[in-house]
Amino acid sequence: MDKSWMHCRIHCSKMPKEYEDGVENFMRFAIANAEGSSVIRCPCTKCMNLFFRTHTVVLEHLYFYDFDVSYTT
Ligand SMILES: [Zn+2]
Repeated sequence: MDKSWMHCRIHCSKMPKEYEDGVENFMRFAIANAEGSSVIRCPCTKCMNLFFRTHTVVLEHLYFYDFDVSYTT
């Protein structure tokens, strides 16, 4: 099965620069505070900071589902 469209959905879609920067800042912060753990809480609208995901999955969720707007910390 050709999965190149998934790659394109993540990397080719037009993303507001501010959102992209916000995601990058969050990932840096989260990884820095994960103390070597391979999983972090996912702040997307689907997980709502309740579920632990790997960095890669969190990154994908933030592009697919957006940040949970109630997530402030
Ligand atoms: Zn998520």
